[in-house]
Amino acid sequence: MALYIPELVAPGGSLEKLKMAILYGADAVYIAGENFGLRTAADNFSKDEILRGIEFAHCRSKKIYVVINAFLHDKELGELESFIEFLSQVKVDAVVVSDFGVISYIKKISNLNIHLSTQNTCLNSYAASLCKEIGINRIVLGREVSMEEAKIIKDQTGLEMEMFIHGSMCMSYSGNCLISNYVFNRDSNRGGCKHSCRFLYQIDGRRDYFYSSKDLMGFEFLLKICHAKIDALKIEGRMKTPHYLATVVKAYRAGLDSLKEKNEMDWSQIGELNKIQTRDYFGGNLMTKATEESVFSKGKIDKAEDIAGVVLEAKKGEHLLIQVKSAFEKFDHLEFLPFRGESIMLEVLHMMDASGQPIDAGKTGSVVKLPYNPNIESGNIVRIKRKK
Ligand code: SF4
Repeated sequence: MALYIPELVAPGGSLEKLKMAILYGADAVYIAGENFGLRTAADNFSKDEILRGIEFAHCRSKKIYVVINAFLHDKELGELESFIEFLSQVKVDAVVVSDFGVISYIKKISNLNIHLSTQNTCLNSYAASLCKEIGINRIVLGREVSMEEAKIIKDQTGLEMEMFIHGSMCMSYSGNCLISNYVFNRDSNRGGCKHSCRFLYQIDGRRDYFYSSKDLMGFEFLLKICHAKIDALKIEGRMKTPHYLATVVKAYRAGLDSLKEKNEMDWSQIGELNKIQTRDYFGGNLMTKATEESVFSKGKIDKAEDIAGVVLEAKKGEHLLIQVKSAFEKFDHLEFLPFRGESIMLEVLHMMDASGQPIDAGKTGSVVKLPYNPNIESGNIVRIKRKK
Protein backbone atom coordinates (compact mmCIF):
# COMPACT_ATOMS: atom_id res chain seq x y z
CA MET A 1 0.00 0.00 0.00
CA ALA A 2 1.26 3.47 -0.87
CA LEU A 3 2.63 5.46 2.06
CA TYR A 4 1.23 8.85 3.06
CA ILE A 5 4.04 11.24 2.12
CA PRO A 6 4.13 14.55 4.00
CA GLU A 7 4.78 17.88 2.34
CA LEU A 8 8.36 19.12 2.83
CA VAL A 9 8.29 22.74 4.03
CA ALA A 10 11.57 24.68 3.91
CA PRO A 11 12.65 28.15 5.08
CA GLY A 12 13.17 30.95 2.56
CA GLY A 13 15.31 33.65 4.21
CA SER A 14 15.77 35.42 0.85
CA LEU A 15 14.68 35.07 -2.77
CA GLU A 16 17.93 33.22 -3.51
CA LYS A 17 17.24 30.74 -0.71
CA LEU A 18 13.59 30.35 -1.72
CA LYS A 19 14.65 29.32 -5.23
CA MET A 20 17.35 27.03 -3.87
CA ALA A 21 14.90 25.29 -1.51
CA ILE A 22 12.49 24.62 -4.38
CA LEU A 23 15.18 23.43 -6.79
CA TYR A 24 16.55 21.03 -4.15
CA GLY A 25 13.11 19.54 -3.54
CA ALA A 26 10.93 21.52 -1.10
CA ASP A 27 7.17 21.28 -1.71
CA ALA A 28 6.56 24.59 0.03
CA VAL A 29 8.64 27.49 1.33
CA TYR A 30 7.81 29.81 4.23
CA ILE A 31 8.91 33.43 4.02
CA ALA A 32 8.21 36.69 5.83
CA GLY A 33 7.38 40.16 4.59
CA GLU A 34 9.15 43.27 5.86
CA ASN A 35 6.80 43.54 8.84
CA PHE A 36 4.87 41.17 11.10
CA GLY A 37 7.38 38.27 10.93
CA LEU A 38 9.57 37.20 13.81
CA ARG A 39 12.99 37.50 12.25
CA THR A 40 13.98 41.16 12.26
CA ALA A 41 17.52 40.29 11.17
CA ALA A 42 16.54 37.85 8.40
CA ASP A 43 16.44 38.95 4.79
CA ASN A 44 12.72 39.60 4.81
CA PHE A 45 10.89 39.96 1.49
CA SER A 46 9.67 43.16 -0.14
CA LYS A 47 6.29 42.93 -1.88
CA ASP A 48 8.05 42.65 -5.23
CA GLU A 49 10.18 39.76 -3.93
CA ILE A 50 7.10 38.01 -2.52
CA LEU A 51 5.48 38.28 -5.95
CA ARG A 52 8.60 36.92 -7.70
CA GLY A 53 8.89 34.12 -5.16
CA ILE A 54 5.25 33.10 -5.65
CA GLU A 55 5.66 33.14 -9.45
CA PHE A 56 8.80 30.98 -9.20
CA ALA A 57 7.03 28.51 -6.90
CA HIS A 58 3.64 28.34 -8.64
CA CYS A 59 5.06 27.69 -12.08
CA ARG A 60 6.76 24.61 -10.54
CA SER A 61 3.56 23.58 -8.68
CA LYS A 62 5.10 24.49 -5.30
CA LYS A 63 3.61 26.59 -2.52
CA ILE A 64 4.55 29.74 -0.62
CA TYR A 65 3.45 30.44 2.95
CA VAL A 66 3.91 33.90 4.44
CA VAL A 67 4.65 34.07 8.15
CA ILE A 68 2.80 36.72 10.18
CA ASN A 69 3.67 35.46 13.63
CA ALA A 70 4.21 38.60 15.68
CA PHE A 71 1.68 39.37 18.44
CA LEU A 72 0.07 42.70 17.55
CA HIS A 73 -1.57 45.61 19.35
CA ASP A 74 -4.89 47.04 18.08
CA LYS A 75 -3.19 50.01 16.41
CA GLU A 76 -0.95 47.63 14.42
CA LEU A 77 -3.88 45.64 13.00
CA GLY A 78 -4.83 48.55 10.73
CA GLU A 79 -1.35 48.43 9.19
CA LEU A 80 -1.92 44.76 8.40
CA GLU A 81 -4.96 45.32 6.17
CA SER A 82 -3.17 46.40 2.99
CA PHE A 83 -0.62 43.58 3.38
CA ILE A 84 -3.41 40.99 3.62
CA GLU A 85 -5.09 42.49 0.54
CA PHE A 86 -1.78 42.22 -1.31
CA LEU A 87 -1.26 38.57 -0.25
CA SER A 88 -4.79 37.72 -1.43
CA GLN A 89 -4.15 39.36 -4.80
CA VAL A 90 -0.87 37.52 -5.40
CA LYS A 91 -2.50 34.22 -4.35
CA VAL A 92 -0.21 33.22 -1.52
CA ASP A 93 -1.03 29.63 -0.50
CA ALA A 94 -1.40 30.34 3.22
CA VAL A 95 -0.42 32.70 6.01
CA VAL A 96 1.21 31.31 9.16
CA VAL A 97 -0.15 33.21 12.16
CA SER A 98 0.27 33.06 15.95
CA ASP A 99 -2.03 35.62 17.48
CA PHE A 100 -5.74 34.67 17.71
CA GLY A 101 -6.63 38.35 17.30
CA VAL A 102 -4.66 38.52 14.07
CA ILE A 103 -6.28 35.28 12.89
CA SER A 104 -9.74 36.68 13.61
CA TYR A 105 -8.86 39.91 11.77
CA ILE A 106 -7.51 38.06 8.70
CA LYS A 107 -10.63 35.85 8.61
CA LYS A 108 -12.77 38.98 8.66
CA ILE A 109 -11.07 40.69 5.72
CA SER A 110 -9.92 37.77 3.48
CA ASN A 111 -10.36 34.15 2.46
CA LEU A 112 -6.70 33.25 2.96
CA ASN A 113 -5.79 29.78 4.22
CA ILE A 114 -4.48 30.05 7.77
CA HIS A 115 -1.86 27.88 9.43
CA LEU A 116 -1.42 28.26 13.18
CA SER A 117 2.23 29.14 13.87
CA THR A 118 4.26 27.02 16.27
CA GLN A 119 4.62 30.27 18.22
CA ASN A 120 1.07 29.71 19.48
CA THR A 121 2.27 26.49 21.15
CA CYS A 122 -0.64 24.20 20.30
CA LEU A 123 0.00 21.00 22.25
CA ASN A 124 -3.37 19.26 22.56
CA SER A 125 -6.59 18.32 20.79
CA TYR A 126 -8.74 20.81 22.76
CA ALA A 127 -6.63 23.72 21.57
CA ALA A 128 -6.69 22.23 18.06
CA SER A 129 -10.51 21.88 18.16
CA LEU A 130 -10.77 25.55 19.04
CA CYS A 131 -8.53 26.31 16.06
CA LYS A 132 -10.84 24.28 13.84
CA GLU A 133 -13.88 26.22 15.08
CA ILE A 134 -12.33 29.52 14.06
CA GLY A 135 -11.39 28.28 10.60
CA ILE A 136 -7.69 27.43 10.88
CA ASN A 137 -6.65 24.91 8.20
CA ARG A 138 -3.36 23.58 9.55
CA ILE A 139 -1.52 23.54 12.86
CA VAL A 140 2.24 23.84 13.08
CA LEU A 141 2.57 21.99 16.35
CA GLY A 142 4.81 23.05 19.20
CA ARG A 143 8.14 21.25 19.16
CA GLU A 144 7.18 19.76 22.50
CA VAL A 145 4.56 17.49 20.85
CA SER A 146 5.48 13.88 20.06
CA MET A 147 4.56 12.18 16.80
CA GLU A 148 2.09 9.94 18.65
CA GLU A 149 0.38 12.99 20.18
CA ALA A 150 0.27 14.66 16.77
CA LYS A 151 -1.52 11.63 15.34
CA ILE A 152 -4.13 11.78 18.12
CA ILE A 153 -4.69 15.52 17.57
CA LYS A 154 -5.12 14.90 13.85
CA ASP A 155 -7.50 11.96 14.37
CA GLN A 156 -9.64 14.02 16.75
CA THR A 157 -9.83 17.20 14.68
CA GLY A 158 -9.24 16.23 11.05
CA LEU A 159 -6.96 19.27 10.74
CA GLU A 160 -3.66 19.14 8.87
CA MET A 161 -0.67 18.66 11.17
CA GLU A 162 2.78 20.12 10.50
CA MET A 163 5.75 19.18 12.67
CA PHE A 164 9.34 20.38 12.90
CA ILE A 165 11.69 17.75 11.50
CA HIS A 166 15.12 19.42 11.41
CA GLY A 167 17.03 22.38 12.82
CA SER A 168 17.69 24.46 15.91
CA MET A 169 15.48 24.07 18.96
CA CYS A 170 14.12 26.72 21.31
CA MET A 171 14.71 25.64 24.89
CA SER A 172 11.54 27.42 25.95
CA TYR A 173 8.04 26.82 24.60
CA SER A 174 8.67 28.28 21.14
CA GLY A 175 9.60 31.85 21.96
CA ASN A 176 7.53 32.13 25.14
CA CYS A 177 10.71 33.15 26.86
CA LEU A 178 11.90 36.34 28.48
CA ILE A 179 15.64 35.72 28.93
CA SER A 180 16.46 37.79 25.85
CA ASN A 181 14.16 40.63 26.99
CA TYR A 182 15.63 40.56 30.48
CA VAL A 183 19.30 40.47 29.49
CA PHE A 184 19.30 42.53 26.26
CA ASN A 185 15.92 44.25 26.19
CA ARG A 186 15.27 42.31 22.97
CA ASP A 187 11.87 40.66 22.70
CA SER A 188 11.73 37.06 21.43
CA ASN A 189 8.08 37.56 20.57
CA ARG A 190 8.86 40.59 18.39
CA GLY A 191 11.71 39.05 16.39
CA GLY A 192 14.54 40.13 18.65
CA CYS A 193 15.68 36.87 20.26
CA LYS A 194 19.41 37.05 21.08
CA HIS A 195 19.59 33.29 21.68
CA SER A 196 20.51 33.92 25.27
CA CYS A 197 19.83 30.23 25.98
CA ARG A 198 23.06 29.46 24.09
CA PHE A 199 25.23 31.38 26.56
CA LEU A 200 27.49 30.11 29.31
CA TYR A 201 25.83 30.44 32.74
CA GLN A 202 26.97 29.84 36.28
CA ILE A 203 24.73 28.18 38.87
CA ASP A 204 26.01 27.35 42.38
CA GLY A 205 29.59 27.73 41.16
CA ARG A 206 29.09 25.41 38.18
CA ARG A 207 29.64 26.99 34.76
CA ASP A 208 27.89 25.32 31.82
CA TYR A 209 25.67 25.77 28.77
CA PHE A 210 22.64 24.65 30.80
CA TYR A 211 19.95 25.83 28.37
CA SER A 212 21.59 25.28 25.00
CA SER A 213 19.78 22.54 23.08
CA LYS A 214 21.23 20.16 20.53
CA ASP A 215 19.70 20.39 17.04
CA LEU A 216 16.72 18.35 15.94
CA MET A 217 17.17 15.64 13.30
CA GLY A 218 14.13 13.49 12.50
CA PHE A 219 15.53 11.82 9.38
CA GLU A 220 15.56 8.36 10.91
CA PHE A 221 11.84 8.64 11.81
CA LEU A 222 10.53 9.44 8.31
CA LEU A 223 8.91 6.02 7.80
CA LYS A 224 7.11 6.23 11.17
CA ILE A 225 5.98 9.77 10.33
CA CYS A 226 4.49 8.53 7.04
CA HIS A 227 2.64 5.79 8.95
CA ALA A 228 1.28 8.41 11.36
CA LYS A 229 -0.03 10.42 8.35
CA ILE A 230 1.52 13.70 9.45
CA ASP A 231 0.74 16.21 6.68
CA ALA A 232 3.83 18.39 6.58
CA LEU A 233 7.41 18.44 7.87
CA LYS A 234 9.10 21.74 8.57
CA ILE A 235 12.79 22.53 8.34
CA GLU A 236 13.84 25.33 10.69
CA GLY A 237 16.18 28.14 9.70
CA ARG A 238 15.35 31.26 7.68
CA MET A 239 18.74 32.59 8.84
CA LYS A 240 20.74 29.52 7.81
CA THR A 241 23.15 29.54 4.84
CA PRO A 242 22.21 28.41 1.29
CA HIS A 243 24.64 25.50 1.73
CA TYR A 244 22.84 24.34 4.89
CA LEU A 245 19.46 24.73 3.22
CA ALA A 246 20.38 22.85 0.04
CA THR A 247 21.93 19.96 1.96
CA VAL A 248 19.04 19.51 4.39
CA VAL A 249 16.27 19.86 1.79
CA LYS A 250 18.03 17.45 -0.58
CA ALA A 251 18.49 14.82 2.15
CA TYR A 252 14.85 14.86 3.27
CA ARG A 253 13.61 14.94 -0.35
CA ALA A 254 15.66 11.83 -1.11
CA GLY A 255 14.31 10.10 2.02
CA LEU A 256 10.68 10.94 1.23
CA ASP A 257 11.00 10.10 -2.49
CA SER A 258 12.47 6.73 -1.68
CA LEU A 259 9.57 6.00 0.70
CA LYS A 260 7.11 7.07 -2.00
CA GLU A 261 8.69 5.05 -4.80
CA LYS A 262 9.99 1.96 -2.99
CA ASN A 263 8.28 2.00 0.40
CA GLU A 264 11.73 2.01 2.00
CA MET A 265 14.22 4.58 3.25
CA ASP A 266 17.20 5.88 1.30
CA TRP A 267 19.85 6.24 4.02
CA SER A 268 22.53 7.48 1.62
CA GLN A 269 21.88 11.13 2.49
CA ILE A 270 22.20 10.84 6.26
CA GLY A 271 25.96 11.42 6.08
CA GLU A 272 25.29 14.68 4.21
CA LEU A 273 23.46 16.04 7.25
CA ASN A 274 26.72 15.76 9.18
CA LYS A 275 28.66 17.79 6.59
CA ILE A 276 26.88 21.06 7.39
CA GLN A 277 27.51 23.44 10.28
CA THR A 278 25.29 22.12 13.02
CA ARG A 279 25.28 21.30 16.70
CA ASP A 280 25.15 17.65 17.71
CA TYR A 281 21.84 16.09 16.72
CA PHE A 282 19.07 14.49 18.76
CA GLY A 283 15.50 13.41 18.02
CA GLY A 284 13.80 16.26 19.89
CA ASN A 285 10.48 15.19 21.35
CA LEU A 286 9.37 13.32 18.22
CA MET A 287 9.58 9.85 19.75
CA THR A 288 10.56 10.27 23.40
CA LYS A 289 10.68 13.23 25.75
CA ALA A 290 13.86 15.28 25.54
CA THR A 291 16.13 14.68 28.54
CA GLU A 292 19.37 16.16 29.90
CA GLU A 293 21.00 14.33 26.97
CA SER A 294 19.50 17.02 24.74
CA VAL A 295 21.77 19.74 26.16
CA PHE A 296 24.56 20.85 23.83
CA SER A 297 27.24 21.38 26.43
CA LYS A 298 30.05 22.11 23.95
CA GLY A 299 28.57 25.59 23.58
CA LYS A 300 30.11 26.33 20.17
CA ILE A 301 29.75 24.68 16.77
CA ASP A 302 33.23 23.51 15.77
CA LYS A 303 32.47 22.39 12.20
CA ALA A 304 33.77 24.65 9.41
CA GLU A 305 31.47 25.72 6.60
CA ASP A 306 32.98 24.07 3.51
CA ILE A 307 31.08 25.86 0.75
CA ALA A 308 33.16 26.99 -2.25
CA GLY A 309 30.38 28.68 -4.19
CA VAL A 310 27.23 28.43 -6.29
CA VAL A 311 26.90 27.66 -10.01
CA LEU A 312 25.54 30.84 -11.63
CA GLU A 313 25.41 29.46 -15.16
CA ALA A 314 26.00 26.12 -16.89
CA LYS A 315 26.51 27.07 -20.54
CA LYS A 316 26.13 23.93 -22.60
CA GLY A 317 29.41 22.79 -24.15
CA GLU A 318 31.24 25.91 -22.95
CA HIS A 319 31.69 26.60 -19.22
CA LEU A 320 30.40 26.64 -15.67
CA LEU A 321 30.25 30.09 -14.12
CA ILE A 322 30.86 29.92 -10.37
CA GLN A 323 30.15 32.63 -7.81
CA VAL A 324 33.00 32.06 -5.36
CA LYS A 325 31.87 32.23 -1.71
CA SER A 326 35.10 30.84 -0.24
CA ALA A 327 38.45 31.01 -2.08
CA PHE A 328 39.80 27.91 -3.81
CA GLU A 329 42.84 27.14 -5.97
CA LYS A 330 43.96 25.10 -8.92
CA PHE A 331 44.23 21.39 -7.99
CA ASP A 332 41.68 21.74 -5.17
CA HIS A 333 38.92 19.13 -5.24
CA LEU A 334 35.38 20.47 -5.56
CA GLU A 335 32.17 18.62 -4.79
CA PHE A 336 29.10 19.70 -6.77
CA LEU A 337 25.67 18.98 -5.26
CA PRO A 338 23.21 18.23 -8.06
CA PHE A 339 19.51 18.76 -7.24
CA ARG A 340 19.04 14.97 -7.19
CA GLY A 341 21.45 12.05 -6.84
CA GLU A 342 25.07 11.60 -5.90
CA SER A 343 27.59 14.43 -5.62
CA ILE A 344 30.01 15.04 -8.49
CA MET A 345 33.70 15.31 -7.56
CA LEU A 346 36.02 17.37 -9.79
CA GLU A 347 39.65 18.42 -9.48
CA VAL A 348 40.27 22.00 -10.63
CA LEU A 349 42.72 21.57 -13.50
CA HIS A 350 41.75 24.65 -15.53
CA MET A 351 40.24 27.85 -14.20
CA MET A 352 39.60 31.23 -15.81
CA ASP A 353 38.39 34.60 -14.61
CA ALA A 354 35.10 35.99 -15.94
CA SER A 355 36.85 37.47 -19.02
CA GLY A 356 38.41 34.12 -19.94
CA GLN A 357 41.98 34.69 -18.70
CA PRO A 358 43.62 31.64 -17.05
CA ILE A 359 44.02 32.02 -13.26
CA ASP A 360 45.42 29.87 -10.45
CA ALA A 361 42.97 30.85 -7.70
CA GLY A 362 39.39 32.03 -7.36
CA LYS A 363 39.08 34.79 -4.77
CA THR A 364 36.11 35.09 -2.41
CA GLY A 365 33.45 37.26 -4.05
CA SER A 366 34.78 36.76 -7.60
CA VAL A 367 33.22 34.88 -10.51
CA VAL A 368 35.29 32.15 -12.17
CA LYS A 369 34.84 29.84 -15.14
CA LEU A 370 35.40 26.08 -15.00
CA PRO A 371 35.05 23.52 -17.82
CA TYR A 372 31.44 22.53 -18.64
CA ASN A 373 30.01 19.33 -17.15
CA PRO A 374 26.62 18.11 -18.43
CA ASN A 375 25.57 16.84 -14.99
CA ILE A 376 25.98 20.20 -13.27
CA GLU A 377 23.21 22.80 -13.40
CA SER A 378 22.77 26.46 -12.59
CA GLY A 379 21.90 26.78 -8.88
CA ASN A 380 24.00 23.81 -7.73
CA ILE A 381 25.98 24.30 -4.53
CA VAL A 382 29.74 23.67 -4.70
CA ARG A 383 31.72 22.42 -1.70
CA ILE A 384 35.46 22.38 -1.29
CA LYS A 385 37.24 19.30 0.00
CA ARG A 386 39.62 21.02 2.41
CA LYS A 387 43.23 19.83 2.51
CA LYS A 388 43.91 18.28 5.93
S1 SF4 B 1 16.57 32.79 24.04
FE1 SF4 B 1 16.54 30.62 23.46
S2 SF4 B 1 14.84 29.75 24.64
FE2 SF4 B 1 14.55 31.98 24.61
S3 SF4 B 1 13.24 32.37 22.81
FE3 SF4 B 1 15.37 32.60 22.15
S4 SF4 B 1 15.87 30.53 21.31
FE4 SF4 B 1 14.05 30.30 22.62
